[in-house]
Amino acid sequence: MRKDKPNISFEELYDKVSTYIFNEEDKNVIKHAYEFAKEKHAFQKRHTGEDYITHPLNVAYILSDINADYQTISAALLHDTMKECDVTKKELEEEFGLEIANLVDGVTKINKLNFSSSDNEAMLANQRKIIVGITEDVRVITIKLADRLHNMRTLWILSEKKQKENAIETLEILVPIAHRLGMNKIKSELEDLSLRYSKPDVYFSIVEKLNQTKVERNSNVELMKDALIKLLNSHGIKHKIKGRAKSIYSIYKKLDTGRRFSDIYDLNALRIFVDTEACCYQTLGIIHSKYRPIPKRFKDYIAMPKENGYQSLHTTVFGENGQLYEIQIRTYEMDDLAEHGVASHWAYKEKGKAVLQSAMEEKLQFFRSIMELSNEESNDEIFVNSVKEEILKKIIYVFTPKGDIIELPLGSTPIDFAYKVHTKVGDSTVGAIINGNIEPLDYKLQDNDIIKINTSKTATPSREWLNMAYTSQAKNKIKAYFNRIDKEENLKKGEELLLKALKRKKISNVEFFKEENISKILNELNIGDINELYIGIGSNKYSPLSVINILQNQELTKEEIILSKVNSNDHVDINIKDDIIVEGIDQIKVNIAACCKPIKGDNIVGYITKGNGISVHRNNCPNISDIEERLIDVKWNDNVDKKYLTNILVRANNNKNVLMDIVAKTSTQDITVQSINTINTTEDFLFDISILVQNKEKLDKFIRDLEILDSIIKVERIIK
Ligand code: MN
Repeated sequence: MRKDKPNISFEELYDKVSTYIFNEEDKNVIKHAYEFAKEKHAFQKRHTGEDYITHPLNVAYILSDINADYQTISAALLHDTMKECDVTKKELEEEFGLEIANLVDGVTKINKLNFSSSDNEAMLANQRKIIVGITEDVRVITIKLADRLHNMRTLWILSEKKQKENAIETLEILVPIAHRLGMNKIKSELEDLSLRYSKPDVYFSIVEKLNQTKVERNSNVELMKDALIKLLNSHGIKHKIKGRAKSIYSIYKKLDTGRRFSDIYDLNALRIFVDTEACCYQTLGIIHSKYRPIPKRFKDYIAMPKENGYQSLHTTVFGENGQLYEIQIRTYEMDDLAEHGVASHWAYKEKGKAVLQSAMEEKLQFFRSIMELSNEESNDEIFVNSVKEEILKKIIYVFTPKGDIIELPLGSTPIDFAYKVHTKVGDSTVGAIINGNIEPLDYKLQDNDIIKINTSKTATPSREWLNMAYTSQAKNKIKAYFNRIDKEENLKKGEELLLKALKRKKISNVEFFKEENISKILNELNIGDINELYIGIGSNKYSPLSVINILQNQELTKEEIILSKVNSNDHVDINIKDDIIVEGIDQIKVNIAACCKPIKGDNIVGYITKGNGISVHRNNCPNISDIEERLIDVKWNDNVDKKYLTNILVRANNNKNVLMDIVAKTSTQDITVQSINTINTTEDFLFDISILVQNKEKLDKFIRDLEILDSIIKVERIIK
């Protein structure tokens, strides 16, 4: 929507909501709300001289941008009727029902509160909490934000003093709320408008500079966009690419931290949308294989989303025309969440209000203790004061050595602090230095303490900590650690026991672990995946023999397995005759076996299939272990230089950063990621990754490099 659009008519609003609200009755409620509000505001004017109704109409229109439901749109139309026209809540309830009446009442309550501007960070935080805290239905906040946004768009009419006051209040109180809810589109416009009125000279000089460099930036972006489209199409990746405008406020913040104008203005920004999370990493890998990335500029907000849920991959590369390009890669759903935050759930109709409410509440968990208070206190003033007291009594503010403020409930210990900073920090804590002194881990933190947590890579949590931690957040993370450890141990033990039993019974692993066998076992035992099976064996729930016995009548001979594999349709038919030299035979169809996917440099052997030429396997492929009469010597053709497709299985102990690290390695080693398949297990993180690589030497180096990484337990080549 254009910011300078003077007025929205009801018809425009109605057309807009009709694109996502289809129920006639619901739309009639909106119509009724409009007529009701129009009549009540009939002779009122805004400061701008316009009819008052233009304001609620615009607020409703802003909310229709994020697909707000009909109750929210109706309440937005009615939001000023209680305050400006003395309509009672009862009257609204009779006309529109309790839900809409409650929404309007909530917005009215917030608007009644008058927060004196304060320099004290703690007081500001409280004010934000109070707004959120008195809101029983989180949709009230979205209306409040839209209300403020429209007021900011028309702020030019007010006095300079009022403009500044409003701008500052918006930046200090409403922007952080929008940020916490992840409603970045509204947040970003609120920020730009606040900057325009609080620091007009800065604002307009940035706008001017941006406009001066626009033409050049646009042509660079178009050039890079075309190159990326070609590149991604050649790898069969479905995608969309958009140039990306930087917000004026974000440029201001960067300048504020001392970066030069040219560093910021010269940067070209693009955003790529793809269908799946795995595609995001694959896209990143492909881009890095062509354009050199700036080291340390990748950010993996997919594996580690920002606190408000934001997900995306960020990288900066040297692209076309020798320019730097800042590229964001995300799925469409991630984009929706990034733009609209929790409100994006409105867009997924089938989930509806319940999901929105629960998603929002999750975000607002922080404020929950205050929400409980609102039931007891009816008088706004008493309520606000009691909330302020409660908060000031119960919350302490402590600092990291770098000066970042961390908020904790009174009673918290260094353990709570460590887990609040990061789970990794918590899990590897060995001690705490507070205000320069070594203190025990059960020390009770005080306001303004400066806390340094000492960590060690080899340290692990102690069960004792459950008694020392105060916050449920820390306790849950400690418990999660021990659950994980217990499960991991049983999983490992279970796997070992099963493999031993198979060996004793002389059953080959390949045979046993065939998909249909495993699914038969899982079905029989009524469990979800193979890890659960291992854990069951490891914890003595099932004996390995009883598990093996489930399959006893089902065995196939090795030959049957091979023949079914070689002839099966999912066999990848790549004719690579030229790469492989078959001793003494010319003009014969040669295929690379899909089970073990040999690459150049592997010791290989040919297997003469019935009617499908020669299938080339790795020497150690168990699928050909027993049959000599059908094998034939084959050699790699040294004169051919190309990349071969193979699969690796990466086992990681967490999913943070792992894919990013892998993709980063491929980028530096001329390896192309073809696809990434995340294997869902409850305890482990497993990735089946198809890569294109020139030869075994390069692959071995790649595997060694991956295995050095902390988070990676093991990398294997897959033989299926
Ligand atoms: Mn209003």
